[in-house]
Amino acid sequence: MRSQALLDAMNEQIAHECFSAYSYLSLSAWCESVNLPGFANWMRVQAREEIEHAMKFYHFIIDRGGRVRLAAIQQPPVDCDSPLDVFQKALASEQRVTGQIERLYALAVQEQDFAGQAFLNWFVEEQVEEEKLVSQVIETLKLIGDDKPALVMLDRELAQRK
Ligand code: MG
Repeated sequence: MRSQALLDAMNEQIAHECFSAYSYLSLSAWCESVNLPGFANWMRVQAREEIEHAMKFYHFIIDRGGRVRLAAIQQPPVDCDSPLDVFQKALASEQRVTGQIERLYALAVQEQDFAGQAFLNWFVEEQVEEEKLVSQVIETLKLIGDDKPALVMLDRELAQRK
């Protein structure tokens, strides 16, 4: 890669995507602890997708002749108040990632890295999808409120995600 700044930022993004995966895995564990296996499944599937995002950056750096350097990953959130809180934490996480992707894109433009911009387009679109998906579940959870049977129904629906 011609731009050292973009290479450094993409290496950082690998850690951000891994932190995102780690956060979803932690949310999944909380859902298991309150007997919501469908919610837990949804969060694990999402964690797997985040690792795939990290791997896209990993391979892109290598394909461009750059050196992958993995950074430290922080501890993710461990405790939640409710299923709604789980998805609100997920939305906050996605919004943070959207900001990271936008900063990467701005850097690729600044550095006139056209391959980098083409690569990042996928992530720009992916973040729109991620935020939409999580927001939809938040709205459903707000409708459900304290309705336990409805929550169990939603848990069964979220169990279907593969
Ligand atoms: Mg991601």
